[in-house]
Amino acid sequence: MEVVSDIASVRALRRHYGDATLGFVPTMGYLHEGHLELVRRARRENDRVAVSIFVNPTQFGPTEDLSRYPRDLERDLALLRGEGVDFVFAPGDGVIYPPDFQSSALVRGVTQPLEGARRPTHFEGVTTVVAKLFNIVRPTRAYFGQKDAQQVVVVRQMARDLNFDLDVIVCPTVREPDGLAMSSRNKYLEGDQRRAATVLNRALRAAERLWNEDTRDSEALRAAMRDTLAAEPLARVDYVSAADPQTLAEYEGAIPAGAGVLLSMAVFIGRTRLIDNFNLAGAAEQPGE
Ligand code: AMP
Repeated sequence: MEVVSDIASVRALRRHYGDATLGFVPTMGYLHEGHLELVRRARRENDRVAVSIFVNPTQFGPTEDLSRYPRDLERDLALLRGEGVDFVFAPGDGVIYPPDFQSSALVRGVTQPLEGARRPTHFEGVTTVVAKLFNIVRPTRAYFGQKDAQQVVVVRQMARDLNFDLDVIVCPTVREPDGLAMSSRNKYLEGDQRRAATVLNRALRAAERLWNEDTRDSEALRAAMRDTLAAEPLARVDYVSAADPQTLAEYEGAIPAGAGVLLSMAVFIGRTRLIDNFNLAGAAEQPGE
């Protein structure tokens, strides 16, 4: 496995691979099984696999956790060696954002609700770094986790709008045995907070139960999530949502027959902000029905 920190080295490797297919997994490091599942899928579906490790400062807001975001490059590289990764791009300081950097990739509509409403500069940071990484690595397929549901919608929109010649592949959320979605930020949870954090999954399952009993009242789905979250004293709700999975527009009242729903939420457990979601398919999306 090669580990490279500059753009010229990535381009040289890509040239060397010629027509081989290349699967690419962008990450911010501090890897867990969620990341590794993306890598494994990329390994199965491509001749070559590349992973980037870069804690992208532009996707963090001024009051967010950039300086304390967990990092452990040596451990990450050991894990990736075990997965048969061909190369890791871990850009050095100033490689992605040199001092005279002044451009961005901006997606409008689907960045506005949900995470975008609470983190106004977040998605511009995400799309800018992802566009740069796509141009540097030139993958055949890029792999993202359903854990960050809006990110997937936003990156797909950007790839389509700006004609990136690649497929965006989405992989299911990997969870701890108690249902907590794996996240590098789970490391921040201390003592009782770790147990309290399972409330996000429990809230999603409460709404899913209603959905499976054919409840299509979006307010009832949001209420089921809110009620579950309210019973956990260590949890403070940022938002809960029942939205159209394609447009991310919040549903009001009844969800149209056959449509799916993206249930999502952001919840503070102490100072740690956790997100989670279930993407529930509608009858119209289930083959054979
Ligand atoms: P991050 O390092 O947090 O930027 O995540 C890198 C990629 O891994 C993103 O596409 C995430 O959606 C994905 N990811 C993070 N956590 C999980 C998880 N628990 N299950 C599946 N994918 C995940």
